[in-house]
Amino acid sequence: MNPRDLSAHVPYSAGRGIEEVARELGMDPDELVKLSSNENPFGPSPAAVDAIREAAPQVHTYPKAVHTDLTDALADRWDLPPAQVWLSPGGDGVLDYLARAFLSAGDRVLVPDPGFAYYPMSARYRDAAVDTYPLRKSEAFAQSAENVLGAYDGHRAIYVTTPHNPTGSEMALGEIERVARETDAETLVVVDEAYAEFTEAGSARPLLDEREDIAILRTFSKAYGLAGLRLGYALVPAAWADAYERVNTPFAVNSLACRAGMAALEDHEHVERTVETARWTRGYMYDHLEAPTWESGGNFVLAEVGDGEAVTDAAQREGVIVRDCSSFGLPECIRVTCGTREGTKRAVDVLNEVVDR
Ligand SMILES: *Cc1c(COP(=O)(O)O)cnc(C)c1O
Repeated sequence: MNPRDLSAHVPYSAGRGIEEVARELGMDPDELVKLSSNENPFGPSPAAVDAIREAAPQVHTYPKAVHTDLTDALADRWDLPPAQVWLSPGGDGVLDYLARAFLSAGDRVLVPDPGFAYYPMSARYRDAAVDTYPLRKSEAFAQSAENVLGAYDGHRAIYVTTPHNPTGSEMALGEIERVARETDAETLVVVDEAYAEFTEAGSARPLLDEREDIAILRTFSKAYGLAGLRLGYALVPAAWADAYERVNTPFAVNSLACRAGMAALEDHEHVERTVETARWTRGYMYDHLEAPTWESGGNFVLAEVGDGEAVTDAAQREGVIVRDCSSFGLPECIRVTCGTREGTKRAVDVLNEVVDR
């Protein structure tokens, strides 16, 4: 027997894992600098690691109370009722839950091109059709309402990423609001803030006080360094808060993730160090990479290197793993995650050498 027709479904292409590359090169993982998946170069918050250890003996129980505790902590932080916080397995889980709550077969969604691959994937599971709006290299991938509205044609959902992966460009709050205002009342604007900690620009959270057609995605995978735990959440308007109970996979988030998330939320020092270092390394890459770069609001920088795949392969042989952007439709580019200061310097040296060849 066969699965259903999945010919329109494209497998997710992740950055390469450090163990995988180390094995292939016959190197120790510690000798590698992995800057391909926008992970936190300092690891998780030490407080989160302690919380995981402490919670380990209780993993035979379902995560009910801890789920509530983390939801309450986030609700408090964002000044919203708990029902407007939807915990989910990673930011990707947010996209699934929103798709389950909003999309019916035959609906159409609008996603950025280039853009995050999981928007179309999660929409297609619901048998929705996918259209794109362009972010143009000739305009430095600038994000404007006009750009989105130019491609809009009554879509059920529009996905906006700010800061945007993989380009780093940002969309001003006023532009996001204009998209929401100038589209149908039944069009949902999903604002993906996976990298919001790394920019000075504010969250779209204030829009939830005025509008019912916006949802915000946040994650613990990037600035908080908990990518392996799969923890994210949506902030949603009051009007449809109760949809969560109808669409979520029971016990959406595991108990270790809930405890680690709570600890990480309180560890301001870890986030500050992470964000400050990312700011410094972004600047370092603009100044020292011998390739054109784009200004980024995230913990990564996009660089134009000619043949992204060749540069990625050559850098990898020198122990530096970066992301070839072919799968984003930018085969001439690589995306380099902000590492530690030392890690980033080494990566820049290796990349310059490789690009030179
Ligand atoms: C990393 C990322 C996410 C969420 O990742 P999770 O690990 O599932 O939380 C969402 N959107 C974008 C654009 C990302 O880069």
